[in-house]
Amino acid sequence: QPPSVSVYVPIIQGCDQFCTYCIVPYRRGRERSRPLAEIVCEVNALVCRGVKEITLVGQNVDAYGHDLPQKPGLADLLQELNAIDGLARLRFLTNHPKDMSAGLINAIARLDKVCEHINLPVQSGSNGILQAMRRGYTAERYRELIAEIRRQVPAIALSTDVIVGFPSERENQFQQTVNLLAELKFDTVHVAAYSPRPGTVAARELVDDVPSEEKKLRLNTVEQLQTGIAAEINARLLHQTVEVLVEGMEKGKWHGRTRTDKLVFFSDYAGLPGQLVNVRVERTGPWSLQGKVVTDK
Ligand code: SF4
Repeated sequence: QPPSVSVYVPIIQGCDQFCTYCIVPYRRGRERSRPLAEIVCEVNALVCRGVKEITLVGQNVDAYGHDLPQKPGLADLLQELNAIDGLARLRFLTNHPKDMSAGLINAIARLDKVCEHINLPVQSGSNGILQAMRRGYTAERYRELIAEIRRQVPAIALSTDVIVGFPSERENQFQQTVNLLAELKFDTVHVAAYSPRPGTVAARELVDDVPSEEKKLRLNTVEQLQTGIAAEINARLLHQTVEVLVEGMEKGKWHGRTRTDKLVFFSDYAGLPGQLVNVRVERTGPWSLQGKVVTDK
């Protein structure tokens, strides 16, 4: 069985953060990074078997390496992997704002295989709620980070995660989240309504006091806002030519993703999965693009 075009490679396990709503640090323990050479070896082997795109994964992937003897960073790992012949694209998921260093942002800007896409969960636009979540940053710091990323990598696509209806979240605090999303305009927002996870600090010590109807309303508000923003961002790609890594075919349509992680459908393709093709975008929507292959790359 040949591996798929795109493969996830875990590089760090566990988490040291202890956000109050999250069970991961209790279940998976403290952060443990895999040695850099072992990851490079694994990626080399995957590329030899035909893999074109690697996504480095971990709960806090941008904290990679701080627990290793030489203390390599994610930027160092990306640099090593970027040199592997035959590899087309590199991605990484998920980041914590406190570990998003200038060096890492610079690596994204500098290394040609590292795709212009970052997932940087914000969770809330309210400093009070961020503190109750123990996220370790303020909304101001988060905005600064996004500004720095956009300054260094103008073509970046950004996605984020948001929790609505966290214990004690008042209407005006929720509105701060809405304002932040409207201002920063992410390509993708993963939104969830808070629900207590047994074993967490929030479940033990905080009262889940936002009524479920209200949580649903807040969730819908974010989803509606984001649908409009995503449609607007994607509409800018109309009649543009984008580079797509062909992943496969479903129901007679080929699909793949741009470097910015946009899902693209196209039908006039006679090649195999794993190729990079140029697609001219003919239709756009909030969740995907459609177009025609113009030239094989
Ligand atoms: Fe760690 Fe993420 Fe869970 Fe926070 S939400 S404790 S950063 S895994």
